[in-house]
Amino acid sequence: MVSDSTPDTPYIHCEDLFKIYKTDELEVVALRGLDLKVARGEMMAIVGASGSGKSTLLNILAGLDKPSAGGIRVGERDLLTTTEEDLVNYRRSEVGFVWQQTGRNLIPYLSAQQNVEVPMILDGATRRQAKRRAEFLLEEVDLIHRRKNRPDQISGGEQQRVAIAVALANDPPLLLADEPTGELDRSTADTVFRVFRKLNEGMNVTLVVVTHDRAISDRVDRVVSMRDGRTSTEFIRRAAFARGQGEIVEEFAVVDRSGRLQIPREHIESLRIGERARIQIIGDHVEVRPEEQADGDGAPWRRS
Ligand code: ADP
Ligand code: MG
Repeated sequence: MVSDSTPDTPYIHCEDLFKIYKTDELEVVALRGLDLKVARGEMMAIVGASGSGKSTLLNILAGLDKPSAGGIRVGERDLLTTTEEDLVNYRRSEVGFVWQQTGRNLIPYLSAQQNVEVPMILDGATRRQAKRRAEFLLEEVDLIHRRKNRPDQISGGEQQRVAIAVALANDPPLLLADEPTGELDRSTADTVFRVFRKLNEGMNVTLVVVTHDRAISDRVDRVVSMRDGRTSTEFIRRAAFARGQGEIVEEFAVVDRSGRLQIPREHIESLRIGERARIQIIGDHVEVRPEEQADGDGAPWRRS
């Protein structure tokens, strides 16, 4: 069961999610028991090595692909059991998507404004309504002066900002972006993230961004890192003014429903933890040590 109806029910709730891609010769497990909750109005990022399952997760959240097992709910919708027809509605008006490849987001022979109008017209808006909202959205992404330009007449960063306006055309409550700044330089990427933040705060759009950007934790509320098809660690920004530190970023290991947690790879390597570790409760915390380091205290069966 994924849902309960308490007021703080997460907007996105993935529980023990699996995705297995089957090809002729082999099966690839892209998601293996992924748990994730995202609150309504949150702006969060997903990071992780290439192949860790980030795009797979985003495609499932976008309703472009179905998980193999587990639970996934966005708002009131159960994305695993919903009908194809309902998924079409979901993709059209409940979720916006920005791809990394600037060329994939926009229709090359249409102006910026026409690109933003297309999804609205497909959804039944009149030309006049579409025009008005397109102008509003292009103002929001600071590109109203470029509205008549085609994609090849504006820069990569500008194209991504138009793509954000296109994604928000039908006013979806959720915006997903898969490495939207992957092809942009640093300062252009900064501008794109400023636009994301503005839309998140001004329009209360929930935002999930997959990124390779190292400085991401300064720009979002929370960063979740993925490893091998699961969430492994979380970085949360907190005000620590009482301690005179301004803002600090705290790192947590994610504990899943079965009590599993991943020890960060750096720690595994630096502590030389092999296939087993010793776990011991020391007062209010748990100590994890490599197997061979244990002395008599860590091996109760040797005690007399
Ligand atoms: P990321 O976005 O983190 O780089 P992906 O979600 O794209 O990771 O991929 C996760 C794993 O699933 C990888 O091993 C990848 O090769 C595999 N994979 C992704 N898409 C497909 C597909 N359509 N068919 C087969 N394997 C896939
Ligand atoms: Mg990817």
